[in-house]
Amino acid sequence: MSKRDYYEVLGLEKGADEKEIKKAYRRVAMKYHPDRNPDDPDAEEKFKEASEAYEILSDAQKRQAYDQFGHAGVDSQFGGAGGGADFGNFSDIFSDVFGDIFGGGGGGRRRGGPQRGSDLRYNLELDLEEAVHGTEVKIRVPTLVTCDSCGGSGAKPGSKPVSCTTCGGVGQVRMQQGFFSVQQTCPTCHGKGTIISDPCDSCHGQGLIEEIKTLSVKVPPGVDTGDRIRLAGEGEAGPEGGPSGDLYVQVVVREHELFQRDGKHLYCEVPISIVDAALGGELEVPTLDGRVKLKIPAETQTGKLFRMRGKGVTPVRGGSPGDLLCRVSVETPVNLNKKQKELLRELQISMEGDQNSPRKSSWFDSVKAFFDT
Ligand SMILES: [Zn+2]
Ligand SMILES: [Zn+2]
Repeated sequence: MSKRDYYEVLGLEKGADEKEIKKAYRRVAMKYHPDRNPDDPDAEEKFKEASEAYEILSDAQKRQAYDQFGHAGVDSQFGGAGGGADFGNFSDIFSDVFGDIFGGGGGGRRRGGPQRGSDLRYNLELDLEEAVHGTEVKIRVPTLVTCDSCGGSGAKPGSKPVSCTTCGGVGQVRMQQGFFSVQQTCPTCHGKGTIISDPCDSCHGQGLIEEIKTLSVKVPPGVDTGDRIRLAGEGEAGPEGGPSGDLYVQVVVREHELFQRDGKHLYCEVPISIVDAALGGELEVPTLDGRVKLKIPAETQTGKLFRMRGKGVTPVRGGSPGDLLCRVSVETPVNLNKKQKELLRELQISMEGDQNSPRKSSWFDSVKAFFDT
């Protein structure tokens, strides 16, 4: 019997695209699926024929060879799909095409090596000083570690995991879903292929036990809120002896009473008296490295910023240190006694608007102009 043209089998035009091929295969496969046609021996042949056609046409390389040389092209180059792909093979294609109908039940998690443990996250609160200067802190992290009793296998010492009888150790089973038979992860062994008949007493067969690990974290100088420190291999242990995940220490810098941080710069509010503001003066201001003297020039207004170069933060990723910016705010005197009040009235009488309070004067002029127009 000569082989039918693959395009003809699926009812396609030569130039059909990937989507059309998939759709056509779906239609033909649904029609001829053996489970839907138990009494028709031809159906299985047609189903296999369609699967073979799909296998070739859905693979760009095989399709090109087929387009150029026909059946001879694919048979010689790719060992031939022969009298139809075997069942195991096309169940893969099948689940690829139909997987979405069944919510992806076809694929499942493949077996293959022990899995890696989960990554962990730990929020580390630091004072500004610690963040800026760097520190070393001990943290206690609840995690999963490999069970000592069973070495992570989950089986009672002296016993071994046994091959799963549900799937025969394959990890996958074929399940009937409606008209279709699809491959699924084995519900008994969850794809592992083995089950534990005699579970370890310490970990109840999990291979892992909960433990609070105490770890030392080196915090480099300059870190800020949002920075992460990765401790490789300090996450949860992997099941069945798989590699451990990582631990991510997430830095959160606490608010400081005196300083606000903006990247590498620090800001600090400095209240000064009206006398210092008017006549000038010298005061001590704090920095993270101790006190420094700040000279206030005469006639300093509220809001003026004094920049202290290099007194900010050296960024954790390197670069020049930031600055400390002191913002002056002039404090109105309170709790004045009689004498002080008299002195201020005297001052008030002696003050000439334009001369002593230029901002106030010009502001009044603006207000006047605003209402006069
Ligand atoms: Zn154990
Ligand atoms: Zn199984």
